Amino acid sequence: MTSGSAIHAGARLISLPLLLSLLHGPAPAQRNLAGAVQDQLALERLKVLASVLMIGAHPDDENTALLAYLARGRKARAAYLSLTRGEGGQNLIGAEQGELLGLIRTQELLAARRIDGAEQFFTRAIDFGYSKSAEETLAKWGRATILADVVWTIRRFRPDVVVIMSAGTSLEGHGHHQGAGILGREAFSAAADRSRFPEQLRWVEPWQAKRLLARGYASSRPQATGDGTGPAVEIDTGEFDPLLGFSYSEIAGMSRSMHRTQGMGAPERRGAAKSYPVLVAGDPARGDIFDGIDTTWNRLPGGAPAGKIFEEAARTFRPEQPEKTVPLLLQARPLVAAIKAPWATLKLQELDEAIALCAGLWLGASTERHAVVPGESLQVSFEVINRSRTSLALRSVRLEGMAGAPAAEFAAAPLAYNEPDRRSLKVTIPADQPYSQPFWLQKPSQGSAYVVEDPEMVGLPEPPAILRARFRIQAGSEEIDLVRPVLRRYVDRVEGETARPLVVVPPVAVSISEPVVMFPDAQAKTVEVLLRSNVAGASGELRLEAPAGWRVQPRAASFRVPEAGQETTLAFTLSAPPGPARGELRAVAQVSGREISSGMQVIAYPGLPPQTVFPPSSAGLVRADVRTLARKVGYVMGAGDEAPRALRQMGCEVTLLGADELARGDLSRFDAIVTGVRAYNVRADLAAHHQRLMDYVQRGGTLVVQYNVADGRSPASLEKIGPYPLRVGRDRVSVEEAPVTFLNPKHPLLAAPNQIGEEDFRGWVQERGLNFASQWDPQYEPLFESHDPQEEPLRGGTLYARYGKGAYVFTAFSWFRQLPAGVPGAFRIFANFLSAARSAQ
Ligand SMILES: [Zn+2]
Repeated sequence: MTSGSAIHAGARLISLPLLLSLLHGPAPAQRNLAGAVQDQLALERLKVLASVLMIGAHPDDENTALLAYLARGRKARAAYLSLTRGEGGQNLIGAEQGELLGLIRTQELLAARRIDGAEQFFTRAIDFGYSKSAEETLAKWGRATILADVVWTIRRFRPDVVVIMSAGTSLEGHGHHQGAGILGREAFSAAADRSRFPEQLRWVEPWQAKRLLARGYASSRPQATGDGTGPAVEIDTGEFDPLLGFSYSEIAGMSRSMHRTQGMGAPERRGAAKSYPVLVAGDPARGDIFDGIDTTWNRLPGGAPAGKIFEEAARTFRPEQPEKTVPLLLQARPLVAAIKAPWATLKLQELDEAIALCAGLWLGASTERHAVVPGESLQVSFEVINRSRTSLALRSVRLEGMAGAPAAEFAAAPLAYNEPDRRSLKVTIPADQPYSQPFWLQKPSQGSAYVVEDPEMVGLPEPPAILRARFRIQAGSEEIDLVRPVLRRYVDRVEGETARPLVVVPPVAVSISEPVVMFPDAQAKTVEVLLRSNVAGASGELRLEAPAGWRVQPRAASFRVPEAGQETTLAFTLSAPPGPARGELRAVAQVSGREISSGMQVIAYPGLPPQTVFPPSSAGLVRADVRTLARKVGYVMGAGDEAPRALRQMGCEVTLLGADELARGDLSRFDAIVTGVRAYNVRADLAAHHQRLMDYVQRGGTLVVQYNVADGRSPASLEKIGPYPLRVGRDRVSVEEAPVTFLNPKHPLLAAPNQIGEEDFRGWVQERGLNFASQWDPQYEPLFESHDPQEEPLRGGTLYARYGKGAYVFTAFSWFRQLPAGVPGAFRIFANFLSAARSAQ
């Protein structure tokens, strides 16, 4: 999603204290922690003023065991700064790619952090796919931009120790990893330098962390290096935590297994697990990661008395009577509130949450709907319940996040033991309230970096809840403030009690049914626009905007949708120019004076809060001469890709082949069968029916096999994915402009039905291909040679073989990226593959 005139930047409603609260730790209610364990951890944490920031390139580069050790074991503030959201990887659980994949991975990381107890940040950098050098990576990201973000995160988080997950040397393979190491090193000192990024000093102060460590890989204590920066720190993440009932490595396994899109299911390890991070810069340490750093309240002027009280609170805590600890916490509160330091501001919020925990105070704010349109009114219900004998009273509830949001003051309503206090407020959503598009997707990205207009949002993992309830509670002589997001709470008959975020949506959402409309010949096509109403009685006009040379009929169509949630389809006829052309088609709805040109997509996976995004209602237009001799195509979907759609655009009739059809169906009715990306990795039935597929080819069929991964966990039959032996390797061509040589320019597969030329490899996106064949039987014929700059030529990208009366094509070029992107040449080449048995007889 790269544009969206209907999406406005958020008004600045975020105050600095709120910003700090957003930065402050994961949500207080943790599914895996409850009761006395949660209380005790909160009390222990109040004693500790220590922080560590870990920096890596991608979701999954973090050392989850170290994060769990620091956050859960040492009770420190720990955070992972992932430079990217992992947009460039593959998706093992669905079809989302690119920005949408980044959105899911953001939530996966947040889910992992809820388990290991650390916090999460991101820069604006986009994972643009595999990169072989740091130079390429930093050029594509924009070195200064991403360095600024790392510096900004350090200045805001103020870590005692920074840990980089790669040291920034060329030994580290992936250019993103090298780049993250280089930026981490530079930011360590730049953050302390007032002359670097001075524009940030409006919000933050310069910050010098005490030391910079690089992840240690060694399993045994390594020798000191010549420059005296040898190993100094030893960490055992295999330590057992009796309070939690797990070792930190076990927690790490649970946390890491949240990375579902990348299939990162990880073991929960038991037993000692020592590591030795190495000093890169700053003060040396002996033994402990915090060596030489005062991690107690004594580090703050006037902090010692509060520290003493917290020591006592943790020591005298009684699991069966947590409320007995409340008076001590209330005694410490004015002492903490009096200290003017960022640490004290953070700890004051932790303290208020700890008071609520020990007092068994439950607070909730909910609505009956999860989606609301600007201008509408919404009833917000509050529930406050005191599940202890602590004397508490509700003073006020204030809604925050929107202009004009209401508040209610109460004289002081005592909260009786275990009796819910229920109230409600009506809020009117401002007419100009922006839609809930994640902040990094509001503007088109530039190069390989997101554009974020509000500097205070930079670094945050996700936008703050659009509506928040601030409860003021009287506890003894203190008033504590607790903030909860307004959620829609409901009971799902299968999942039980569920909550989902409140979102602001446009009155109608508009989407063109196909992301790419391909005209393989001069014939006009029907284009359908789906219009979904989010309000009752929405009416207006819809028009399609096409570039010069393309013709749309009719010019506009009027619509009326009686009910909210209903959809209607409007059809237009589109004629393409006679010769090759590309362009963009845009659908615009006009509803009571407001123009809407975005769709609405909800991405929901088990265990993650549903994400709503508003992709622009546009589609790519491609006019290219594409002929295919294959009409009926069977598609074996693998990990998920958009190729079937693209094949339909070429005029093929595509049938998705399920397990039954693959096992028993009549395959001979297909002109070609295609296996989707990673199909042999995720579909065990493919290996099981290898012989059926080979028989199909032998009798005259065409089988096209796209890329798979040889990762050791896949069926051994990965070598048996064709009629003759073939081994899948790891070679890739990551530069999308890398030259492609035709090994036999007269090869029939390059001549019919489409004459393929160099221009068909122009305009490719992200990469040429990945996981090429590394070895193959001489009966295969390689068609192309390609390679990245300064690398060996690779011929295993596409292999062709005749088998009986049919044809087999192995192709690890990344068609799954090119076809959805509307690359004309990709359609033409792929059409030849589908036609292989017929054209090359
Ligand atoms: Zn990585």
